[in-house]
Amino acid sequence: MKKKIRVLIAKPGLDGHDRGALVISQALRDYGMEVIYTGLRQTPEQIVASAIQEDVDAIGLSCLSGAHNELFPEIIDLLKARGADDIIVIGGGVIPWEDIPFLESKGIRKIFTPGTPTIETAKFIEKAVYERDGIAGSHGMEPAEKIDHIGIAVSSLEEVLPFYVNTLGLKLEGIEEVSSQKVKVAFLNIGQTRLELLEPMDGESAVAKFIAKRGQGVHHVALGVKEIEKRIEELIEHGVQLINESPVKGAGGANVAFLHPASTHKVLFELCEKPKGDEK
Ligand code: ZN
Repeated sequence: MKKKIRVLIAKPGLDGHDRGALVISQALRDYGMEVIYTGLRQTPEQIVASAIQEDVDAIGLSCLSGAHNELFPEIIDLLKARGADDIIVIGGGVIPWEDIPFLESKGIRKIFTPGTPTIETAKFIEKAVYERDGIAGSHGMEPAEKIDHIGIAVSSLEEVLPFYVNTLGLKLEGIEEVSSQKVKVAFLNIGQTRLELLEPMDGESAVAKFIAKRGQGVHHVALGVKEIEKRIEELIEHGVQLINESPVKGAGGANVAFLHPASTHKVLFELCEKPKGDEK
């Protein structure tokens, strides 16, 4: 059974602008949440008292004054002191990217920067609350688990393998032909991840075209994922264009799908799901 999620939107500090707070309040209501808005210029004590009194699941803090590095951690500390640290706290407003790791290390679950679609904030809160309460059925974006491999385009495996194996001392795991991509690949083990050297099998291969245009070099980054179909669906929902909208067979029997670089700031990403029982 899904419960109605209650969120307190609060504005700590001295700035006098609450357009952003009102926009997110309305967006969360439209998503089906109950939202309480504190109004402007609240102290951390007032915010924590309201959150406990209103029995909310989450607090959304909005701060434009630049005092977020003091105010946000203070709210986390007060929640802990009152035994209410199961309340999920997120933040937004004018917060430089540099401050985000610090705030998240202090217990703010996520900082949303200006321009984040409000639906993503709503989905994040929903997922965090459902996870906390052990309720299934959340549908936020799952992060990838690891870099499965980095793909490197080469003209000739014969020519480059001595460098990788003898000079760098990497272990060659195997060589195989991947007909779906018209490439011959060599995998080299490197710690928890691998390098994938790709040699085009003919001029029609995308890797051949890549080399013709840009020369040999780093070609793609493969993200190790589970449930690749679901991940593809989520990406499409987020407006990402995919080269493969359903998985194709990659090396080692993995299911793979490439994201279009036009949607990823020019990096070619591959999603890669290992066959069951071969998840190293
Ligand atoms: Zn790959």
